[in-house]
Amino acid sequence: MRKPFAITLDPGSSLANHTGTWRTSRPVYLDRLPPCNHACPAGENIQGWLNHAESGEYEAAWRLLTEDNPLPAVMGRVCYHPCESSCNRASLDSAVGINSVERFLGDEAIRRGWRFDGPGFPTGKKILIVGAGPSGLSAAYHLARLGHAVEIHEAGPVAGGMMRFGIPKYRLPRNVLDFEIERILQLGVGLDLNRKVANIQQTMKQGGFDAAFLAVGAHIAKRAYIPAGSAAKILDAVAVLRSMEGEDKPLLGRRVVVYGGGNTAIDVARTAKRLGAEEAIIVYRRTRERMPAHDFEVEEALQEGVLIKWLSTIKQADGASITVEKMALDAKGFPQPTGEFETLAADSVVLALGQDVDLSLLDGVPGLELKDGVVQVGANMMTGHAGIFAGGDMVPAERTVTVAIGHGKKAARHIDAWLKGNVFAKERNNEAATYDKLNTWYYSDAPKTLQPVLDLVRRQSTFDEVTKGLDENNALYEARRCLSCGNCFECDNCYGVCPDNAVIKLGPGKRFQFNLDYCKGCGICVSECPCGAIKMVPEEI
Ligand SMILES: Cc1cc2nc3c(=O)[nH]c(=O)nc-3n(C[C@H](O)[C@H](O)[C@H](O)COP(=O)(O)OP(=O)(O)OC[C@H]3O[C@@H](n4cnc5c(N)ncnc54)[C@H](O)[C@@H]3O)c2cc1C
Ligand code: SF4
Ligand code: SF4
Ligand code: SF4
Repeated sequence: MRKPFAITLDPGSSLANHTGTWRTSRPVYLDRLPPCNHACPAGENIQGWLNHAESGEYEAAWRLLTEDNPLPAVMGRVCYHPCESSCNRASLDSAVGINSVERFLGDEAIRRGWRFDGPGFPTGKKILIVGAGPSGLSAAYHLARLGHAVEIHEAGPVAGGMMRFGIPKYRLPRNVLDFEIERILQLGVGLDLNRKVANIQQTMKQGGFDAAFLAVGAHIAKRAYIPAGSAAKILDAVAVLRSMEGEDKPLLGRRVVVYGGGNTAIDVARTAKRLGAEEAIIVYRRTRERMPAHDFEVEEALQEGVLIKWLSTIKQADGASITVEKMALDAKGFPQPTGEFETLAADSVVLALGQDVDLSLLDGVPGLELKDGVVQVGANMMTGHAGIFAGGDMVPAERTVTVAIGHGKKAARHIDAWLKGNVFAKERNNEAATYDKLNTWYYSDAPKTLQPVLDLVRRQSTFDEVTKGLDENNALYEARRCLSCGNCFECDNCYGVCPDNAVIKLGPGKRFQFNLDYCKGCGICVSECPCGAIKMVPEEI
């Protein structure tokens, strides 16, 4: 479709001239890989689904999106959207709000009750998935669509993993999560709750499984040695967040100190505020620049009244106070103790120092390589033991929901190939649609839409969702901001600008082709294509 923010030229008027044989290069149409698609850990075809969305074809957009990622309403809320950090539009004005359009499509699917197409034709193969977090659910979805019988064994009482027992409700409402999980299970995926796998080989043998995908996450809280009086209340962040899902909310007191600098520390401090703490202070040993938590989350926490004590470590904890030592950065930028101490009032101290993986289900499995507390996997996501694959937080990678979902998809494709005695070969990577390939003159300015945010008072006192979704008008506008990098959007410019009428229009959705009997190889179409979907290649002599 033609873009409202792109200029289109009128068709050329020159008389068609049959070309001679002197052309040295010729134009070819191609689809390049946009940087957003390349950066999405779930491997979404973002340019493709935005293209549907901008024509108002929301269901087609959702169907294309969910070919890669079965949890768009969840991802539209919790993904840290590396796609937007790579978006070419950021060099023009600001990145396309990919994440907010993804959320709009996910919510629209829930509202309208869209379902996935049924499972694939049965292959007769049976696959065990251990863990119903994002990685396990994603693998289950893709394997079921490939026709395999899938059974998930989940240790907990409900599916979702850290999406449910870590990420707070004010960022991910549970009805959204429940709906998207249920839709995966409707593909015929079996879910066995309260079923912890203690020995993977035994479980596989007993159940007659042909392969297994392990996605047990990282749930063991890391501890720090803090000398503590008997009255000191020291808790783990994951345990605190987990208990938020139960009937009995954690008793943190009026003054809560959180120790750590990651997103989990931020989530606990914001949760403590909502539970009624007058003071929630994060104690972190480095500076803001070195804090692993995402900047926007730090900002939101500060707005809600969370305090952060930079360059500080906890030395001791007693009944109602802690002792903090100030740190100073050395020449290499590492924090060093100063010997200066301070006392802070604290009814409880919550440790948010990261999580380790419980690998006990792998005890005695031959061929595995365990390093730095995680399982090593090959490029096909298979561990050193044939038929046992793994992904998500338990393998070496960035720990995010999107990476976990991407691992599930990748593993499913490799498991499918492995079961058939094949090797899954990724489609050849297209050439990159880098910013220099665009002709940005053709696009007009269109500033990004901001998502509405809940008012501060309600943010501080309730677990209502903080960030709201876009309405249809804004979602449409945002989708139309996409420059369609490297992929023809049928603006007709090449057709209009060619001095020799060498471009043949094939009709809506069918794009164009060159009539090489007329093309003189001038390359004007290449330089006037807004999105870099044509290139010149040398003529073979
Ligand atoms: C507080 C917090 C906030 C976060 N916020 C975000 C965010 O906003 N955005 C983001 O992208 N990422 C976020 N993350 C990270 C993200 O949640 C994880 O990277 C992701 O959930 C990992 O997925 P997974 O499937 O590997 O494991 P998990 O989600 O941990 O799921 C593993 C599942 O396996 C089950 N299990 C474990 N052992 C066994 C066993 N032996 N047998 C059977 N079942 C077992 C567990 O009960 C669990 O359900 C956050 C993490 C935390 C802790
Ligand atoms: S999953 Fe994340 S990275 Fe992928 S398109 Fe959605 S927001 Fe972007
Ligand atoms: S402008 Fe569109 S295609 Fe290009 S990087 Fe951004 S979202 Fe992707
Ligand atoms: S290939 Fe032609 S029609 Fe397609 S975007 Fe480029 S100039 Fe427009």
